[in-house]
Amino acid sequence: MTGDGTRVVRAGLPEPAAHEPALPGPVFAAHFHLPGEAAGPYTYGRDNNPTWTRLEAAIGELESPDEPAHTVAFASGMAAITAVLFSQLRAGDAVVLPGDGYQLLPAVRTRLESYGIEVRTARPSTDDRASTSVPHAPVDRGHDARPDVLDGARLLWIETPSNPGLDVYDIRRLADAAHARGALVAVDNTLATPLGQRPLDLGADFSVASGTKALTGHGDVLMGYVSTRDPALADGVRLWRKTVGAIPGPMESWLAHRSLATLALRVRQQAEGAMALATALADRREVTGVRHPGLPSDPSHALAVRQMRPGRFGCVVSFVLPDRAHAERFLTALTLVDDATSFGGVRSTAERRARWGGDDVPEGFIRFSVGVEDPEDLIADVLRALDAAKA
Ligand SMILES: *Cc1c(COP(=O)(O)O)cnc(C)c1O
Repeated sequence: MTGDGTRVVRAGLPEPAAHEPALPGPVFAAHFHLPGEAAGPYTYGRDNNPTWTRLEAAIGELESPDEPAHTVAFASGMAAITAVLFSQLRAGDAVVLPGDGYQLLPAVRTRLESYGIEVRTARPSTDDRASTSVPHAPVDRGHDARPDVLDGARLLWIETPSNPGLDVYDIRRLADAAHARGALVAVDNTLATPLGQRPLDLGADFSVASGTKALTGHGDVLMGYVSTRDPALADGVRLWRKTVGAIPGPMESWLAHRSLATLALRVRQQAEGAMALATALADRREVTGVRHPGLPSDPSHALAVRQMRPGRFGCVVSFVLPDRAHAERFLTALTLVDDATSFGGVRSTAERRARWGGDDVPEGFIRFSVGVEDPEDLIADVLRALDAAKA
């Protein structure tokens, strides 16, 4: 049993071979030599590629170190998310999506409904957010009788910690409730990364993520993946990838694999910086609603401690400034932090999330992604920008 820092530097690498590189370079091939039978590991570039194979093995080792898992890499996180939904759901099925999930889920919802799939919304009750108690099974607040939204559902989608709200949901508890009703469970593990949380160990059938964010961490690759321990579920997802052609490029796959070697370093440094930033922000009068699962005062903290890996609560801190103009002045005054969307990169970024529409957040809501800068420098920059923004 090795630690994560040891695991990530070798994950997915072939056995050392004389005069060969540790991580073989990207294989650029639309097709492979294929004499005779149309069989073998590599036939056509939309079906498989050795660079994917190595990356998928690596991610599988991180998502499920103790049991074999099947991982399927995709061109983006959305390609991975939709692969699970559209490979599993049929007309007449019901699916439960989170009310506070990734901003493109409403578009996915519309598409699912157009195919005759019933989409129910799980919203955490206000009690769940305000207390440190374990969240209830999600309930659809649109129904007076609060019927259990899981009844008769085929799939439950969980995003935890959620983006950008940073609420934490109890994977084990929700997975047990879903499985008792015969529903599959998928968890969006983007924010935590497999080093922060292992949904398959907590009972999920699928761990799905955007590798665009903290997993690859350099802001230069779009990538997604699905991991599952069930070979039949993996086959369905793989067939979907082939059918719609949502394949990652060999170069992106190789860059992603290369980035994994520093994942433990990055996750540790970014989580430490995020904790320091959240703590500093909590002392500022003009800042409200500071959220970070690692903050002991955060409503999600107790659950995060039970379900996430120690000290790895992610790199995102969210908070609210008094209004839109105040938030814009703050972002402009930052010098070490780029005003940019996305999160998880080595360079800190922040944005006023309401500029996109689509998320249920106040105008002054800032999503801050902490990079690997020295926390002292970053916090000094943030405090100076907050002072400048008061004017
Ligand atoms: C970014 C993101 C996605 C989508 O990933 P892409 O790689 O941008 O397609 C999905 N879920 C979460 C939680 C995300 O942050």
